[in-house]
Amino acid sequence: MRQGRHFLQIPGPSPVPDRILRAMDMPVIDHRSAEFGQLGRTVLEGAQKVFQTSGPVMIFPSSGTGAWEAAIVNTLSPGDKVLMVETGHFATLWRQMVARWGIDVDFLPGDWRRGADPAVIEERLARDTSHALKAVMVVHNETSTGATSRIGEIRAAMDRAGHPALLMVDTISSLGSADYRHDEWKVDVSVSCSQKGFMLPPGLGFNAISEKARAAAKTNKMPRSYWDWEEMLKPNANGFFPYTPATNLLYGLREAIAMLLDEGLDQVFARHQRLAAATRVAVNHWGLEVLCQEPKDFSPVLTAVLMPPGHDADQFRKVVLDNFNMSLGSGLSKVAGKVFRIGHLGECNELTLLAALTGVEMGLSVAGIPYRAGGVDAAMTYLEQRPQGNSPAHLKVVGS
Ligand SMILES: *Cc1c(COP(=O)(O)O)cnc(C)c1O
Repeated sequence: MRQGRHFLQIPGPSPVPDRILRAMDMPVIDHRSAEFGQLGRTVLEGAQKVFQTSGPVMIFPSSGTGAWEAAIVNTLSPGDKVLMVETGHFATLWRQMVARWGIDVDFLPGDWRRGADPAVIEERLARDTSHALKAVMVVHNETSTGATSRIGEIRAAMDRAGHPALLMVDTISSLGSADYRHDEWKVDVSVSCSQKGFMLPPGLGFNAISEKARAAAKTNKMPRSYWDWEEMLKPNANGFFPYTPATNLLYGLREAIAMLLDEGLDQVFARHQRLAAATRVAVNHWGLEVLCQEPKDFSPVLTAVLMPPGHDADQFRKVVLDNFNMSLGSGLSKVAGKVFRIGHLGECNELTLLAALTGVEMGLSVAGIPYRAGGVDAAMTYLEQRPQGNSPAHLKVVGS
């Protein structure tokens, strides 16, 4: 038994704010009642604002992996060809799932230290003069590496190549934390889930879809039932679901959307960027290396840190957990044991982050890892020089 709160600093599931926990502490209601219809309409409309879309958003009782599958089975057919990019572990897993559905994947190799390169995608699409590629599928925020892909630039590259492929994006760990614009970037299917930027427990999967994606679903040849978009969209029109929905998670979702919109999406994105930048200041000061090598692709959601050679990241994570009751993210597959990940998403502010960084710095000392002391001070200085929430200008707006 440890006193005080556990620091869950992994990049999802993220800590669930008290306000959301209280909102979910409700009796389950009849999911065919008028009261439920009201809840359903509120969350379906609210989710559109978070995806920045005027098109439909669907909510499945599922993990993010289920929402990946929904994107595939509603749009593609066995034997189709798609273009994917090896940004890291999650892109690799999505690719495996696509392949299991009998789809031929052109997998652009990557070194796990940057996002997808729009120029390489453009070149590949320009060569595909027969338009054999049916979709470009990219992970927006690669949670295994802390590198984001610039989706707006990828869309521009697709437009320049004049290619009609669908654009499908995994925004699972970026939605509600990093700027994401489904409509403006003309994304056809955006895939997300509940336990990252939405600050909810696991259990909800999302698909936001374009008209082009919905049209593809009318003619594609993949069998499906549970994931079928049209089955979902019919009752959704009145706020209902084709089967029993995750009612209490939807109460939480209603609260999460209110929290994101009350703060303002732009402020949410700016807060994540500020905290991510402060984290990198600390990491650089310690003399450790951030895994992502492309500054344009630095993730606002998490920072993956390389261990010095000869030191095991999982051993370090264990020292931090045992001594300071904090969970850090592990290195996944190719970078297992080589990196640890600091999540700074969702319900995270300056002091939460500084406490987490303090735990990391103390852990480096306890674990006997060579580092330069003072990383937390450097992060403090960075944040002191960029006051946000309590600046006089802000207080004036709040008070007026
Ligand atoms: C977490 C995550 C997933 C998997 O989501 P599950 O809910 O665990 O199925 C997929 N992609 C990315 C980028 C993620 O961060």
